[in-house]
Amino acid sequence: MKENSKPREISHESDESALDKENQAENKNAQNLGKLDLMTSQMTHKEDRTFFAKENVNPLTHAFDKKSTVHAGLGGKPVDPSRMAAVWDELMEIPRNQQTALYVHIPFCRNHCLYCGFYLNPVTAMSSKIYTDALIREMALDVDKKANTQYPIHAVYLGGGTPTVLDPWDLKRLLKAIRSFFPLANDCEITVETTVFDLNEEILSSALEGGANRFSVGVQTFDTTIRKNLGRTCDTDAIIKNLIRARDTDNAVTVIDLIYGLPGQTMSVWGKDIELFQSLELDGVDLYQLNTFKGSPLEKALNKGRLPPAATIPQQALMFKRGVSMMSNAHYGRLSMSHWGRETRERNLYNLLMKKGAPCLSLGSGAGGSLHGYGCFTTNRLAPYLTALETGNKPLAALMAYPEQRPVINSITGALEVGHLNLSGIKQKHQFDLARVCAPLLEQWEKVGLIRQKGDWIDLTVAGQFWQVNLAQALIDYCHKNS
Ligand code: SF4
Repeated sequence: MKENSKPREISHESDESALDKENQAENKNAQNLGKLDLMTSQMTHKEDRTFFAKENVNPLTHAFDKKSTVHAGLGGKPVDPSRMAAVWDELMEIPRNQQTALYVHIPFCRNHCLYCGFYLNPVTAMSSKIYTDALIREMALDVDKKANTQYPIHAVYLGGGTPTVLDPWDLKRLLKAIRSFFPLANDCEITVETTVFDLNEEILSSALEGGANRFSVGVQTFDTTIRKNLGRTCDTDAIIKNLIRARDTDNAVTVIDLIYGLPGQTMSVWGKDIELFQSLELDGVDLYQLNTFKGSPLEKALNKGRLPPAATIPQQALMFKRGVSMMSNAHYGRLSMSHWGRETRERNLYNLLMKKGAPCLSLGSGAGGSLHGYGCFTTNRLAPYLTALETGNKPLAALMAYPEQRPVINSITGALEVGHLNLSGIKQKHQFDLARVCAPLLEQWEKVGLIRQKGDWIDLTVAGQFWQVNLAQALIDYCHKNS
């Protein structure tokens, strides 16, 4: 449902020849669907990669032709399937020692939203009870392992798919099981991702009784016509009513996602979306750019003229700027380049931890996490997922060993996500002179208006904020090439 949950094409430095065909297909799916695999990217290390921005153009709208990736990072190397179980057991015996997240994947949806490349299974694919039982069995598998027990968990995220398609009773017992199996920090952020459609009394009460303290609601736009075109069912009045119901529990944070650049969404509609969000006095909002994935139902519908045109990249850039300006004028706090909070109740902790490359334990069919330098992915096929658990095994589809530069990469992506990067901080922490290695790049970006350098600090301009993922990926690739 979120931008950061969209699948992306990846390439990595790997030798997959040992994998059999089925495993290759599954690993690829798992990698594509691993929501938390922040370190994969579309990079190819080609010599001709463009690191520098265009000159003599408006940097906001034309610094680059397109976004270079969805999440900046550097690929990893897959562990041979014959060694995965043993490597996993070793990883689970190493205690964690830093802020950590737990991601739980519920891979079912009521319908397939046109723009979403993350749809996996219809809600009828498996009973709520069977899947919830399986998740609890998966938790129990590693319950005593040091990686689970020996350090607090600071953010839990139930995502998908749509976690609220579970029966209310199952949602509550799932949340309670998480709280009993894992050492959650006293101030742990516990988010349940949901659609507007599911925000009914029963689901809200069950989630709250289970311990949820944050609802992340995929609204995308309040405009009924645009929503219906995209396969979202609720109209504007129903959205408002349901969001107010969640807000008025006053027992959890309520944040929403809005997307700019949707088919038929003019600048005026976009402005109204933000105004309406602000009028509801919810706790926070993500403003995401529409990504039209190659071969997606949305791309096909647009190409066949079945939908009004979506915004071009330069138009999206102007919509981003409008959003930044409206949120700033209304005095919302900027928690990341795409997220704002109304008051201190909203922390956006899970997303910030992911951008920093924090460890993430993961559960569920199609889930992705990371632990001790490895990306971990469970199978996205329901039958093998259940079978593995019935035989007492973690349903792993792939483990990826991340490159040794990952800590530096994490520092770069985490810093640019919040709009500023401290060069001497990176040098002290990683003994890596980013300022020296990337000097030509930083100089050119400052010249064209993407960044401002003040002493040791690099601040992104509004143009740089729009192209933040390109800048992060370019820094990573440039360092990789030149150090
Ligand atoms: S509800 Fe729609 S946007 Fe959310 S995961 Fe399912 S198909 Fe995607």
